[in-house]
Amino acid sequence: MTSLWLDRAPVVPDDDLPGPGESLDALVVGAGLTGLTTSLLLARAGLRVACVEARGVGAVTTGHTTGKVTLLQGTRLSSIRRHQSEEVAAAYVEANREGMEWLLRFCDDHGVAVQRRLAVTYAATEDELESVEAEHGAASELGLAVQWRDRLDVPFPHVGATVLAEQAQLDAMDVLAALVDQLRQHGGTLHQGHRVRSVSKEGRPTVRLAGGAALSAEHLVLATGTPILDRGLYFAKLEPQRSYALALDGAEPMDGMYLSAGSDTRSVRDAPGGKLVVGGAGHVVGRTDSHLAHLDTLRSWAETWYPGTTETHHWSAQDYSPADGVPFVGPMPRGGGRIHVATGFQKWGMANGVAAARTISSDILGDLPSWAQVLSDRSASASGVAEVARINLGVGAALATGAARTLRERLPGAAGPAQASACGVVGVCTHLGGLLKWNDAEETWDCPLHGSRFTPEGEVLEGPATRPLRRRPSGA
Ligand SMILES: Cc1cc2nc3c(=O)[nH]c(=O)nc-3n(C[C@H](O)[C@H](O)[C@H](O)COP(=O)(O)OP(=O)(O)OC[C@H]3O[C@@H](n4cnc5c(N)ncnc54)[C@H](O)[C@@H]3O)c2cc1C
Repeated sequence: MTSLWLDRAPVVPDDDLPGPGESLDALVVGAGLTGLTTSLLLARAGLRVACVEARGVGAVTTGHTTGKVTLLQGTRLSSIRRHQSEEVAAAYVEANREGMEWLLRFCDDHGVAVQRRLAVTYAATEDELESVEAEHGAASELGLAVQWRDRLDVPFPHVGATVLAEQAQLDAMDVLAALVDQLRQHGGTLHQGHRVRSVSKEGRPTVRLAGGAALSAEHLVLATGTPILDRGLYFAKLEPQRSYALALDGAEPMDGMYLSAGSDTRSVRDAPGGKLVVGGAGHVVGRTDSHLAHLDTLRSWAETWYPGTTETHHWSAQDYSPADGVPFVGPMPRGGGRIHVATGFQKWGMANGVAAARTISSDILGDLPSWAQVLSDRSASASGVAEVARINLGVGAALATGAARTLRERLPGAAGPAQASACGVVGVCTHLGGLLKWNDAEETWDCPLHGSRFTPEGEVLEGPATRPLRRRPSGA
């Protein structure tokens, strides 16, 4: 399942890996929006930078985004206000404003197409109205010029909306191509197809790649979606959320980018060439009985409200929701100030990813913006602690369900789901031992604990795992 954006993206060339004796100032792991922006900011400042990527540029979340760049992010601001002080919420808005402005300026400077649109958070039903009103109030209090609308110029049901003008949408793969080009022009290098397997910190951080090569640098940046190191226990403070998207032909251009406020969201935007992009129908990674049913839900919604359109692409992707509503960005605990992390964008990484790149690069270069300081100094709120407990209750329930499934399938303790043995792999996640679930939409193994995903043959696709699934002994 290829996204509309990855389908159109040109192949990005690679550079030779740095040799054992070559000294790097910064090694960035992950060539999504966050990693490539961080790489460019550091390279522009004159640092010797290499970016290593397990798969290809944009292969994971950035290449599957819906690409809305906006300060009105569904019901994010009211949700942050429930967990955080007004000062922290204001710093979140500032971070995103700076991220968004940098990104749109970069697009303007480098010929990346952007369409200006209204951002709209709407109530699809009366039940959703209260949360849209709360978002409208929170956004107004935080200084955003939102306007209330009872009616929108769209065919799908709605009963009210908050609207922010002059926001934007883009094709994130166009942005990544321009970032790679600029990175090279500033002396940085890109290395795709190299998964980092482990990290050690004896003085300078050193990573070991899947092929055996080692690379070290003064600073290591883990822009890997979710951190691949367990120190910091980020995996226990994040919930991996997967959702689905369709691209359809035959739509009229729209003036807005729409997101419903309920738990089963609908995200709608247009794209150049008469395309409509519809997203939503999400769930926690690995915790559904039929992934295909989620896609079908979106399909029937699109057929109902956009009957003249024809599906050209479908895909799904995941992002990580932080317990206290604000991304985790900065030096990792016990990383000696040299290992940096950026995660928890909760499907709002276009501005947040760039803000994270700005935070990490300015931390390394010594000029932290005040909003970054406020976000990094925030303390755990009672509601954030309760959210960590809720996330981990879900993990516990997934563990228990997995154990029951194993017993039901009469497999030996560590064998995992029956389908996995048919593929010749042990269906147990190599991160923390979760029993994998077969994803019938993507044909992958997905872990219901912390979101690692694997190919049918057991190679890592994404998530905190860095090692492939174990192979079953032949005849077992
Ligand atoms: C369905 C969906 C729709 C979204 N829509 C929007 C939107 O409209 N607006 C918005 O603002 N945000 C949106 N987002 C969120 C946004 O797309 C993401 O937050 C953002 O793309 C994350 O970028 P990233 O660079 O941090 O992560 P990624 O793009 O996932 O990049 C991480 C990279 O790290 C690599 N990697 C991981 N582990 C290793 C390893 N061990 N070794 C080497 N490399 C490794 C991966 O292969 C990957 O390429 C959406 C997300 C989803 C899931």
